[in-house]
Amino acid sequence: MPHLADPTRYDAMPYRRAGRSGLLLPPLSLGLWQNFGTARAYETQRAIVLRAFDRGVTHFDLANNYGPPPGAAEEFFGRILATDLKAYRDEIVVSTKAGYTMWPGPYGDFGSRKYLLSSLDQSLRRLGLDYVDVFYHHRPDPDTPLEESMGALVTAIQQGKTLYPAISNYGPERTTEAAALLAAAGNPLLLHQPRYSLFDRTPEQGVLEAVEAAGAAAIVFSPLAQGLLTDRYLGGIPEDSRAKTSVFLHASDITDEKVAKARALNDIAQGRGQTLAQLALQWVLRTPVVVSAIIGASSVEQLEQNLVAVHGPELTADELAEIDRCLAD
Ligand code: NDP
Repeated sequence: MPHLADPTRYDAMPYRRAGRSGLLLPPLSLGLWQNFGTARAYETQRAIVLRAFDRGVTHFDLANNYGPPPGAAEEFFGRILATDLKAYRDEIVVSTKAGYTMWPGPYGDFGSRKYLLSSLDQSLRRLGLDYVDVFYHHRPDPDTPLEESMGALVTAIQQGKTLYPAISNYGPERTTEAAALLAAAGNPLLLHQPRYSLFDRTPEQGVLEAVEAAGAAAIVFSPLAQGLLTDRYLGGIPEDSRAKTSVFLHASDITDEKVAKARALNDIAQGRGQTLAQLALQWVLRTPVVVSAIIGASSVEQLEQNLVAVHGPELTADELAEIDRCLAD
């Protein structure tokens, strides 16, 4: 039987406006990068997606290459959409991307018009959709003119295959240039998706400023540093954790220094009556240019715990200073 969504799902979620656009997004979005491939049980994936929707998470972040294998996350999500969420399509924002290696040969990578538009067609087939709400250029391409990559996003909009253009992993200058090209074409940049967390503050060196100046919004990925900013690794490396099961996080990334910092941050979180994950999420959301943080979750329990952050007590100036001291040590 198709899923019957919780009628109270919109009661408590404080949606935020994405830049100067008309689009509201939930402060926490669900990303399908790691836990939505063939190695994970479909029923677990389905339970996470449906619980997210039932709690007011209206935005799901995908990319052509998410899985593993590449394409699997879009296929699984397409199945959940078709089976359970068909009636709710207009209540859901689906994002996908192209920019990393997707298929062999010269046309399955980076930022050519050829690659971006054919990849979007493939994504739509896997998702079983006529359009995605947001289509990203996933990473900058040093060899393709920006006019071509941004022009492909505009074409996708004109073809009715996406509603809003977005970029990811762009530096400050290229962000400004991309935004100018899109604005000139009458389709302003909606989102920039950089990595941002207590353990990676790179976007503070220009990207957040460029995004704000463009009237766009930042939507940040890996806000929990893939699990390092949770209690996952405070007492060792669990067998079922990403550090043991994924090629994107290694046991060698779980350094004594990182764990010591996570423990110190955990003490601050406990002083606030919350978990480290909740503190880390509230911290990235403290700045208004960040419209949403894209979380990963390998279980419904993790998702539920993280969603509590949306209603956590506001961070005080003293707490922010203490956090800075912890990170500097
Ligand atoms: P997070 O930093 O949120 O890490 C998610 C992982 O942290 C989970 O898989 C889980 O690890 C652990 N975790 C989450 N919540 C808890 C909790 N409450 N308690 C304990 N552990 C917890 O984000 P991701 O790195 O997964 O990235 C999120 C999304 O961002 C992706 O799905 C994708 O949509 C997007 N992204 C975009 C990129 C880009 O280039 N644009 C690149 C990377 C990601 P475990 O699996 O060990 O349980």
